[in-house]
Amino acid sequence: MSQVPLPISMLDARQGHAVMAHEAGQTMSCEKHSAAGAVSQRACVFCGSRVVLYPISDAVHLVHGPIGCASYTWDIRGSLSSGPQLHRLSFATDMREDEVIHGGEPLLKRALADLIPTHQPNGVFVYGTCLAGLIGDDIEAICREATAAYGIPVIPVEAPGFGGTKKTGYKVACEALGRLVGQGDTSGIAKASINILGDFNLAGETWDLRRLYEAMGIEVVATITGDGRIGDIQRAHGAALNVVQCSGSMTSLARDMESRFGIPFKQVSYVGMEDTAEALYTVAKHFGGGDYLTRAQEIVVRECASVMPELKRLRKELQGKTAAIYTGGAFKAISLVRSLRALGMRPVLAGSQTGGGDDYEALRSICDDDTLVVDDLTAGELAAFCRRGGVDLLIGGVKERPIALKLGIAFCDHNHERKHALAAFSGMLSFAREVHASLTSPVWDLHRLPMPGGQS
Ligand code: SF4
Repeated sequence: MSQVPLPISMLDARQGHAVMAHEAGQTMSCEKHSAAGAVSQRACVFCGSRVVLYPISDAVHLVHGPIGCASYTWDIRGSLSSGPQLHRLSFATDMREDEVIHGGEPLLKRALADLIPTHQPNGVFVYGTCLAGLIGDDIEAICREATAAYGIPVIPVEAPGFGGTKKTGYKVACEALGRLVGQGDTSGIAKASINILGDFNLAGETWDLRRLYEAMGIEVVATITGDGRIGDIQRAHGAALNVVQCSGSMTSLARDMESRFGIPFKQVSYVGMEDTAEALYTVAKHFGGGDYLTRAQEIVVRECASVMPELKRLRKELQGKTAAIYTGGAFKAISLVRSLRALGMRPVLAGSQTGGGDDYEALRSICDDDTLVVDDLTAGELAAFCRRGGVDLLIGGVKERPIALKLGIAFCDHNHERKHALAAFSGMLSFAREVHASLTSPVWDLHRLPMPGGQS
């Protein structure tokens, strides 16, 4: 139980998942199944795996389950590709009562026999959902047979929603990726070479990161999974370093590649200029500093100079505003605290769906004493805090947007549904513009007008 009274009330089962940042001796409860009845904002295991694998654009992504599971389509979880667009098509076996009674394996085999010759993908991911897990379809065996029959990797992604949390889905996705890594030819890869892990190219961020690293003279072997390709991932073990963004989604693949291929990894963030500069310097130093570091410093100076004048102008109007941050991973929340401070704003709530104990310790250490740090927040808790805490801006994803709109406070989408790249230097400017546009919108004054009948 928390020793300091929290600014929101919580169900008994949720106690310990929210603490004031500097409440001495209070350990944060996290990495647990969501409390039944709490209506958590967190998605299921299958969704976690889909988020990670979905951007691989030359693969068929086949959901083996009821059609409802397939609702995570490209339209709501966009990811840009510079080449194939196959990932934008949604495929599902549409399991029904018949399959519950007689099994879904024949349906899955028919779907693969139809999809592979029609679309000629370079690989297939078969997602096992709750229903497939419940009736015990042997997806692994069917994928093995299909791999042999069609000569492309057909990879099972066993992700029944009941099998854990969204973070479990990240791990399942990393295991699927691990089956691909090591299969390709690595000849010709430069000594100073990296894989970019954990960026999903939602709005072109991966392209920007690739541009920055290549300008430093570093080869990018594979981007996993933003703008990802099966062939690149198969040769990713030829890179000298894995550069991992976001603590939650890709660290297990980085660890796997370290143990199997001896490739070290560095954890970085590209949210905000400070963190992006640090990421470039970290990679440059890994390759011995020298010219890599000089070029990284030149890039940072150039990129900062191009965005600073407008950032300073926006900061004047944002100074002193308060924000609540609720993200998928805790690493992003940490970077957002820094980004908001760079804009003169004050984070009063910071939390994530999937953070671990170490992530929350790091988050708490950079927050103000009176910042509430939360894990696996519920819609009710978030709304209550925003209302009582006088929050000016909520940063979240598609499920948090209606909460902000109903409360009449500004909102910034920092999740899969956004269309503006928010990473690196230019991304910081886009972020500031988004925050500024929402906070200064005249619509909030209209929202506060009394409704007919006297209600506000
Ligand atoms: S919880 Fe189960 S049924 Fe629901 S979307 Fe996830 S996999 Fe599908």
